[in-house]
Amino acid sequence: MQEYLKRLVQLQLTDTAILEKRRFIDKVPLRVNEVDEPLRNAKAELEKIRQKATALAKKKKERESTLTETQEKIAKMKNRASDLKTNKEYQAHLKEIEVSEKEIGNIEEQILTLMDEMETVEKEISAREKCVRAEEEKIQAFKKELDAEVSRLDQELTVLKEERAKIVSQLEPDIYATYLALLKRGNGMAMVRADQEICLGCNMNIPPQLFVEIRKNEDLIQCPQCHRILYYEEERPAGQV
Ligand SMILES: [Zn+2]
Repeated sequence: MQEYLKRLVQLQLTDTAILEKRRFIDKVPLRVNEVDEPLRNAKAELEKIRQKATALAKKKKERESTLTETQEKIAKMKNRASDLKTNKEYQAHLKEIEVSEKEIGNIEEQILTLMDEMETVEKEISAREKCVRAEEEKIQAFKKELDAEVSRLDQELTVLKEERAKIVSQLEPDIYATYLALLKRGNGMAMVRADQEICLGCNMNIPPQLFVEIRKNEDLIQCPQCHRILYYEEERPAGQV
């Protein structure tokens, strides 16, 4: 294979590696966002139950002030007892007190029910808080893992960029310009293998005569269909394209 074609192949391998690593790094915010979802849900659930607790506390306070008002009303009524003249008035007075005391019983019962509900809600709040903490820990661990991966990739990218610069410095500027234009146009692939009269970049058939020329690996030959630069490799380790 011509030296410049070898360099181009090497450059493509380097660029493919760079692209893969960059894609991984670019996807990091998206992955963090995805993994954040259970935490956002857990926080929303916690907020909902906290609002319920606040509403219950408010209701209890209202009931308590009604209770105080009613108790004061009864005390006033009892003080008035000496003003009463007739038995009829006195009976009506007793009836009035009885009604108010019954009301107090009702309010106290309502307060007890509210306290029961509040206790249940408090238990639910601590369960939800536990849930939020667990999710936060999970995310922290995931982010730590991801950060380590990203810094490893950054280091690898630095090395790859140095290698790339070295290869580019050994290429003719016009050949590099062609490569670069094809890289952009070919979705990150400028150099592709031709195998069994097929371009492995676009999977189109290559005319037999052209394929003969490609096999020589002497000239810069572009695929008639996708225009990528074609080269031939006799043997290829398994798993590589
Ligand atoms: Zn092609």
